[in-house]
Amino acid sequence: MVSDDAAALLTGEHSDLLTQCESAPCDRFYVRTHARRRWCSTRCGDRVRAARAYARKQQSATPAQ
Ligand SMILES: [Zn+2]
Repeated sequence: MVSDDAAALLTGEHSDLLTQCESAPCDRFYVRTHARRRWCSTRCGDRVRAARAYARKQQSATPAQ
């Protein structure tokens, strides 16, 4: 899904900065205003961090075989 803003940017001067959000299942494009930015919104970033923390917790809760 591409927002109207992103669609406009696709043909604009910032097209080289347009990056797809890395937070699945979000597939939106955003303008990469910062080199270390990887998500379209802080909400997506928080979701990725929460998922990582959850996976770590699940892993440590599983007894080693
Ligand atoms: Zn996103």
